[in-house]
Amino acid sequence: MSTLTAYKEHLQEIGKLQSSLALLHWDQRTYLPKKGHDSRAEVIGKLSKMVFELAICDELGRYLKELEGQDDLSLEDRASVRVVGKAYRRHKAIPPDFYERFAIARSRSETAWEHAKATSGFKHFQPHLEEMIDFSRRFADYYGYEKNPYDALLEEYEPGMTTSELNALNEPLRSKLVPFIKRLLGKGKRPQTGFLKRTFPIDRQRELSLRVLKAMGYDFAAGRLDTTVHPFTITTGPGDVRVTTRFTENDLLSGLFSSMHEGGHALYDQGIAPKLRWSGLDEGASYGIHESQSRMWENMVGRSLSFWTFFQPILAEVFPELAKTPIEAFYQAANVVEPSLIRVEADEVTYNLHIMLRFELEEKLINGRISVADLPHLWQEAMERTLGVVPEDDAHGVLQDVHWSAGMFGYFPSYMLGNLYSAQIFAQVKKEIPELNEHIAHGELANLLGWLREKVHRFGKIYEPKELMTLITGEEPDPSYFMRYITNKYSQLYQL
Ligand code: ZN
Ligand code: ZN
Repeated sequence: MSTLTAYKEHLQEIGKLQSSLALLHWDQRTYLPKKGHDSRAEVIGKLSKMVFELAICDELGRYLKELEGQDDLSLEDRASVRVVGKAYRRHKAIPPDFYERFAIARSRSETAWEHAKATSGFKHFQPHLEEMIDFSRRFADYYGYEKNPYDALLEEYEPGMTTSELNALNEPLRSKLVPFIKRLLGKGKRPQTGFLKRTFPIDRQRELSLRVLKAMGYDFAAGRLDTTVHPFTITTGPGDVRVTTRFTENDLLSGLFSSMHEGGHALYDQGIAPKLRWSGLDEGASYGIHESQSRMWENMVGRSLSFWTFFQPILAEVFPELAKTPIEAFYQAANVVEPSLIRVEADEVTYNLHIMLRFELEEKLINGRISVADLPHLWQEAMERTLGVVPEDDAHGVLQDVHWSAGMFGYFPSYMLGNLYSAQIFAQVKKEIPELNEHIAHGELANLLGWLREKVHRFGKIYEPKELMTLITGEEPDPSYFMRYITNKYSQLYQL
C-alpha cells in the first residue's frame, strides 16, 4: 500500500469516528432525554479521546513527513497534507497532561459562568476566567507565534489571519460606522413594526421555515430541520447536514432569519465536493468564511426588497392574516437599527461594534495589558463609547457570551469577518450576475446558489481564507464593501 493510500485510510478512520461524534452531539442538543446526559457525556469523552489519539499518532506523523516531501501530489492531496499537518503539529505541541488539566478547568469554568450569568455575579466567575486566560496564553506559547500570542489563537478559527491585519480591517470600519449610526438614528426615519405585534403559532412558523429553506435550495434528502435552544448547523458526514432553529411565538422574523442563517451554513456544507470527504478538507475554509455564507443568506438576501417581493405571497399563504401587508412593510420591519446590549440580537449595522469591543478586550487580556478584575468596568465604558448604551448588570454585559468561559479566545473576530467577507463576495456576485436582484424577486435563488457552489462551496478547506477571497473577488479582504453596502441600503431605508 502506498503512503498516500495509507494516509487516506487513516483519515477515513478519523472521519468516521467524528461522524458518530457529530450525531451524538446533535442528539444531545435536540432530543436526548434529561436523564441520558451523564452517560452521553462519557460516551462522547471516550470517542473524542479515540479521535485525538488517531490525530496525533506517530504513524500519521510518518505519513505526513513522507508526503510533505513529495512533489507529485494533486492540488487536493497537497492541501490535505497542509491542513492535516498543521493540525497535527498543533496537537502534538500540547502535553497530554496539560490538556487534561485544561479540559477539567474548562468544564468548571463553564459551570461557574452559567451560575454567574444567572445571578449576574461576575466575582464568582473571575478566578475561572483568569485561569482560562492563563491556559490560553500557555496554548499560544506551545503553538508558537512571531509577534503576538493572540495570533496563535486566531489561527484556530481564521487560518493566516493576524492581529495587526484585523486591526487594519477594524479601524477604517469603526471610524465610518460610528458616525453613520449616529446620523441614522438622529436624522433617519425609523421603520414601523407594529403590524408584527401578534402571536404566530409555532407549527406555522415551522412551515414557513421549511418553505424558505426549500426555496434556498437546501436538500432535505440530505438533511432535516429541528428546533433547539441555541440554533446550530451540524454535518454528521457526507449526505447529512442538519439545521436547527428556534421559534418564538411573538417574533415571526427572528425564527425565519435564524432558519435562513443556519440554512446558509448548511448550503455551504452540502456544496463541498464529494471527492473531499474525509480528507481533512470537507469543511469550510474558516469560521469567518462559513459565517459569510450564513450572513449572506440571512442579511443580503433575506433582508432585501427583492427577497420580500418573492416571499411576501408565500408568507401570506402560511399566515393569511398578513396577506394585505405590503412588501415594503416587511422590508422595513426586517431592517430596524437599534443599538442594543446583546450581541446575538443586534442588527446588521451595529453588530460589528459588538465584535470589535470583544476583540479589543480579549486581545488585551491575552497580552496582559488589562486585568480580569477591571473587565466589567471596561466593558461598560466601551459600550457607552461605541453603542451609547450601558448594561445595568453583568449578565447583560460582560457575562452574556459563553465563549470566554470555554477558553475560546480568537473566535469572536470570525463573526465580523463573516460580515465583511459576505459584502465583498456579494458585490462580486452582482458584478458577474447583474440581474441578480430580479432573479431573487422571482424566487430564482438557484442562480445565486450555483455561483456560490462554483466559487466557494466546492473547495471546502483547499484554500486559506485570504487566498480564497482573492481567488473569488481578485482582492484581499477589504472592509469598504461592507461599509458601502450598509450606507447605500440604510440611507435609502431611513430616508437620509
Ligand atoms: Zn493509525
Ligand atoms: Zn453562524
